[in-house]
Amino acid sequence: MATADVVVLGGGSTGTSVAFQLARRHSGKVVLVERDTAGAGPTAKSIGIIRLHYSHEPLIRLAARSLELFARFEELTGAVADFTRCGFLLLAPEREMVVLRANVELQHRLGMVSSVLAPAEIAALDPRLHLDGVDGAAWEPGSGFADGYATAAGFAAAARREGAEIWETTAAQRLIVDGGRVRAVQTARGEISTPAVLVSCGPWTPALLQPLGVNVPIQASRQQVVQLAPPPAFGVLGVVIEDMAQGFYVRPEAGSTILAGVLEEEAEEIVSPDGFNRGVDFDFVERVGRMWASRYPGAREAEVRRGYASLYDITPDWQPVLGAVDGIGGLYIAAGFSGHGFKLSPALGEALAAIIAGEPPGIDLSMFRLSRFAEGHPIRGRHAQGILG
Ligand SMILES: Cc1cc2nc3c(=O)[nH]c(=O)nc-3n(C[C@H](O)[C@H](O)[C@H](O)COP(=O)(O)OP(=O)(O)OC[C@H]3O[C@@H](n4cnc5c(N)ncnc54)[C@H](O)[C@@H]3O)c2cc1C
Repeated sequence: MATADVVVLGGGSTGTSVAFQLARRHSGKVVLVERDTAGAGPTAKSIGIIRLHYSHEPLIRLAARSLELFARFEELTGAVADFTRCGFLLLAPEREMVVLRANVELQHRLGMVSSVLAPAEIAALDPRLHLDGVDGAAWEPGSGFADGYATAAGFAAAARREGAEIWETTAAQRLIVDGGRVRAVQTARGEISTPAVLVSCGPWTPALLQPLGVNVPIQASRQQVVQLAPPPAFGVLGVVIEDMAQGFYVRPEAGSTILAGVLEEEAEEIVSPDGFNRGVDFDFVERVGRMWASRYPGAREAEVRRGYASLYDITPDWQPVLGAVDGIGGLYIAAGFSGHGFKLSPALGEALAAIIAGEPPGIDLSMFRLSRFAEGHPIRGRHAQGILG
């Protein structure tokens, strides 16, 4: 029978980052079990926006540390994550401005570089933008985006080089617990005897934990994305934009195409993670196209190139469940990222590897404990859109 000191289940950006950080400690054997290939799940479909704007200190610290690690990704892993530092602009209507200012002040207290822009300053940044309904913005010049699949594949390859075993195309079937402690994982390739398991299987996490009596309130929410090609005269989009006034986001790609979608206040479509429509709906394309055209009327003739749908793993407060599971020794969870987990994944790798090794994580993750739901202490951020945290 195979043995490991730690088994990581799920090879998205979270699981591969933790496996990499565990492996580079060289303090035991690490096995990552992924039923597909590393990064091929929802991580591969991520828009990959990296921003610091959050309402809670641990999230800002995780995002900021991750930004540093994305900038050093090649040196760290030997792979590229296609990190692009183009700046992040969060457009706000009047009703969100008090909260936006409070979040930017919190960033300043933590030493981050960001500012609040008045409409004239936003227009100076991109004169093509029409600012109907926008009273101001948060501006982060150091933020940007990276590629989800490249990040997870890079972490997985680096973890392998550091000695981890990466079991791809292998499903974890069951966790085996004895006397209140994790003892093994049953996989499609046989059992792995281990004292520690991290479950980071995104929307599939509840199915693995429910047989142990551990109920994790994660639902799968279908999320659509559209790729648009603005007319050549538009040039390129120079920044990532999240637009709270319309409930819309857009980010540039290499070349001149853009990826766009919606920032909804509540999940719009709860689905089964094993059977959902992976295409894009016509009315969604129309809706996103209208929002794009209202911000950039000069590029309203954008061509729809393609679209797809993937999954957010949503919790009731739109924040992840992180850390040890009470009552089962050696069992850890990192899931429920609710559509904003990619940007946190590099720093979470460090923090969770420390927790699993029995060390302080550097960034306090206790607010993300599973028991917060039963205790009646959900986290919910200050903005109307839960995804903004
Ligand atoms: C359309 C879209 C846009 C997004 N945009 C952003 C963004 O701009 N910024 C941001 O920060 N975040 C964004 N996100 C969210 C972000 O991509 C996710 O939070 C993050 O990638 C989740 O990574 P993960 O590793 O936790 O989970 P996943 O990527 O879901 O990985 C889980 C893995 O577990 C595997 N698995 C499942 N069951 C088993 C099993 N039984 N055995 C073995 N393996 C199993 C799956 O195959 C999968 O690979 C977006 C997500 C989507 C879908």
